[in-house]
Amino acid sequence: MTPEDLAFDAKHIWHPYSATGNPVAPLAVKQADGVRLILDDGTQLIDAMSSWWSVIHGYNNPALNAAAKRQIDTLPHVMFGGLTHQPAVDLCKALISIAPEGLDRVFLADSGSVAVEVAMKMAMQYWQALGKPGKQRFIALRGGYHGDTQGAMSVCDPDTGMHHLFNHALARQYFVNRPAPRFGQHCEPLHIRELEELLARNAQHIAALILEPIVQGAGGMYFYSAEYLSAARQLCTQYDVLLIADEIATGFGRSGKMFACEHAEIAPDILCLGKALTGGYVSLAATLATETIANTIARNPPQAFMHGPTFMGNPLACNIALASIKLLRESDWQAKVSQLEKTLQEKLLPLAQHKKVADARVLGAIGVLELHEAVDMRAVQQLLPGLGVWLRPFGKLVYTMPPYITSDGEIASIADAMQQIIERC
Ligand code: PMP
Repeated sequence: MTPEDLAFDAKHIWHPYSATGNPVAPLAVKQADGVRLILDDGTQLIDAMSSWWSVIHGYNNPALNAAAKRQIDTLPHVMFGGLTHQPAVDLCKALISIAPEGLDRVFLADSGSVAVEVAMKMAMQYWQALGKPGKQRFIALRGGYHGDTQGAMSVCDPDTGMHHLFNHALARQYFVNRPAPRFGQHCEPLHIRELEELLARNAQHIAALILEPIVQGAGGMYFYSAEYLSAARQLCTQYDVLLIADEIATGFGRSGKMFACEHAEIAPDILCLGKALTGGYVSLAATLATETIANTIARNPPQAFMHGPTFMGNPLACNIALASIKLLRESDWQAKVSQLEKTLQEKLLPLAQHKKVADARVLGAIGVLELHEAVDMRAVQQLLPGLGVWLRPFGKLVYTMPPYITSDGEIASIADAMQQIIERC
């Protein structure tokens, strides 16, 4: 890429959460292979982010490449209205076979945020179909993140989300504090009381509780008690409120279980998947629901679930997702993730003693250093090429979610880079 191209990028192109005319220049990537990004100037960086938690098998994977090439040559896209195809059917069979019990109806969406919109609309349509049109609002956890579209934003943390900017347009939802007991700790009745009281008072207005099971991701990289999740599941059932599990970040092994709900041995009524679904190759997401929800919607006017994007069920994306799930199931991913967990613990937990670090935590293939103060992102961006590692901290959080094929030595390099960021940025 020429300097002129980079200047064009800076002036004309938006990047995530940035302004055009951004003084912090992005790094130009020309290729990627295994766990490494290769920059225009040949510099190689270990991708400690898995491209925002999606590239679980690494880049340039032969099985995923072959699945993409096969599909491009036969049927890269076809509309899903009135038509179907083998990759969609095979993918949905695979998803149903690995999903928590009872989730056997699948809506193929185009991105994580859309999967959340779909889940929320499903819950609202379900209660309307049951003759309870008053149940249209949602409970969400503070510290949660569910996406950037209108409905998804309304259930993101009201402070760190964008409520203040879009206050007049966002639906008003209910919020409870993030679970106090951390992962591995007991959840006492007092920890669940706020949720219980809210449900007791307002269940007649509430369609669903939406949460990220066990791991709150972009809202704070916080790991909470499995007992809280199972208590929340029980309360939803007791108060006749649906449970939506947003496993867009946690799905496909990231937390050490195929789905984070498995830590609490619960099944939600609606499940959102995305990110690692295609091994990070292309955008695809899925919303799974129970037969009860699907049938209730189907048997009541308008006898259809009212959502249907242009690229729904894109065959190219479905075929790659199918290959990614096959690769995961045929590999010993649990052993790989638990090895990553062990190495991350060895390398990161001692940094909890560092004077700039408030907390260090590891779960599955997720390692987090929470600092006392926010890092300087411009300094981070300048530092990283020299360290040979790609990280993207936010606020006070310096974290890694490496591809599952990352070696112990590469994890050591990632941990070193995280330490350098703390000390120099
Ligand atoms: N839910 C969760 C838990 C997420 O982490 C994200 C993305 N970070 C989303 C939803 C939104 O997904 P997308 O960016 O694909 O729209």
